[in-house]
Amino acid sequence: MSRHVVIAGAGPAGLCAAAGALRAGAEVTLVDAAENPGGQIRAWRGFERLRDHVLGHPRCDWWPESSIWSIERVGDGAPHVHVLCGEIDAAERDRHVLRPDALVLAPGAHDRVLPFPGWELPGVSTAGAAQAFVKGEGLALGDRTLIAGSGPFLLPVAATLLEAGSRVLAVLEANPAATVARGWTRRPWELASQPGKAAELAGYAALLARHRVPCRTGRAVIEARGDGRVEEAVTARLRPDWSIVPGTEKVIAVDALCVTHGFSPRLELPVAAGCRLRAGAFVEVDGEQRTSVPAVYAAGEITGIAGAPAARTEGLLAGWAAGGGSPDAPEAVAARRRRDQARAFAARLAAAHPIGAAWPGWLRPDTIVCRCEDTAYGTLQRAAREDSAHAVKLATRAGLGPCQARICGPTVAELRSGGNPHHRPIAQPIRLGELAKPPVENPDKKESAR
Ligand SMILES: Cc1cc2nc3c(=O)[nH]c(=O)nc-3n(C[C@H](O)[C@H](O)[C@H](O)COP(=O)(O)OP(=O)(O)OC[C@H]3O[C@@H](n4cnc5c(N)ncnc54)[C@H](O)[C@@H]3O)c2cc1C
Repeated sequence: MSRHVVIAGAGPAGLCAAAGALRAGAEVTLVDAAENPGGQIRAWRGFERLRDHVLGHPRCDWWPESSIWSIERVGDGAPHVHVLCGEIDAAERDRHVLRPDALVLAPGAHDRVLPFPGWELPGVSTAGAAQAFVKGEGLALGDRTLIAGSGPFLLPVAATLLEAGSRVLAVLEANPAATVARGWTRRPWELASQPGKAAELAGYAALLARHRVPCRTGRAVIEARGDGRVEEAVTARLRPDWSIVPGTEKVIAVDALCVTHGFSPRLELPVAAGCRLRAGAFVEVDGEQRTSVPAVYAAGEITGIAGAPAARTEGLLAGWAAGGGSPDAPEAVAARRRRDQARAFAARLAAAHPIGAAWPGWLRPDTIVCRCEDTAYGTLQRAAREDSAHAVKLATRAGLGPCQARICGPTVAELRSGGNPHHRPIAQPIRLGELAKPPVENPDKKESAR
């Protein structure tokens, strides 16, 4: 009898994991909270072909609009997967329990923003949200837009905004040119395996040059000001540790400000499954994408921020192994080589765009750090001096609002030096009524009836 593999997430990693598991002969249940597969990025070559192959496969059961809200550990076997099916705001959603032979976790990441005074003003958005808005609505974001933060993601965001007709004043990378250059050019021979990335970068550079958008390094937005919405951005030159060089502040009139400081992996599902983390930041995996938990595999941004091609290769390997495929099969050997090259790329990315340790120097006592609960930096500092991480959370409510610390969690943990920002036994909101109902036994969804 073939193995049953559940795949959490249908982004580049999850879709490729499904293809790998199907190729290995497994029965696949592919689950995603979104209506359509593809995750954060659907514009890669071969996406539509892969999507049609996976979703149309007789051994694949596709569960769109289905959120995994809990992972239940059970003895030595694969954990049970608790899923809510139905639109997020539907009156009642069905509850299902999947009991697979193997689980592939591929929930991806979301973009990270460090707080600064005024970041809660309307008109200030994460770069990812701005990109999603412009792509979704087809509207220009602003007449005077500033893009700031750190990492190569600033460039596709600038490109999306320019193509939609927004006027982009500048792109600001917080790290100095020397840090960026050192990170990207170390072990230059490894770059030969990533020609696509170089071409992509050249494309963005040409587009920005055509629109006369300056790209500056070593400069950041340290404050947003405005009456009811953003009207001005204060920028400053930074040292390599991201402390402000006094006297370099400039005030720029803006009507939109997009900020991103890299990505935070979504670790609540792997943490709930009991997977060991690497440096507290990413899921630790072996050569076959196995986690420390038996029958649980991980792929994509949760194992390291390395971009969509790396996520696809990791997904393929994870699905193949989870489905019982041999590690010695030629395609697995070739995929491992590509995965290792992609990991080298991730290390380069991290070295070129680190987050400087002195960034909390931008904050003031009244700067909001948790936007859901309006927790100010001063309040958090006072509580952190006296209490444990758990007590700080209860006293300040930081991380207890609707986003459940997905946005502020890593920042709050860093500022109070402790606590696991990813420990979230209920990964997605569930209503008490939904919880009280027994799981549905649906003959069309064979796993719930097992
Ligand atoms: C906001 C944003 C914008 C980006 N834009 C670009 C870009 O323009 N160009 C570029 O090259 N790269 C971009 N990236 C990076 C790129 O998206 C990633 O490298 C790639 O998508 C990673 O693939 P993944 O499969 O690991 O994760 P994702 O693509 O994020 O897919 C993860 C999937 O898991 C699902 N999921 C998560 N949790 C659950 C749950 N509990 N239950 C059910 N489903 C769940 C999500 O709905 C999602 O579909 C962006 C990343 C982000 C976060």
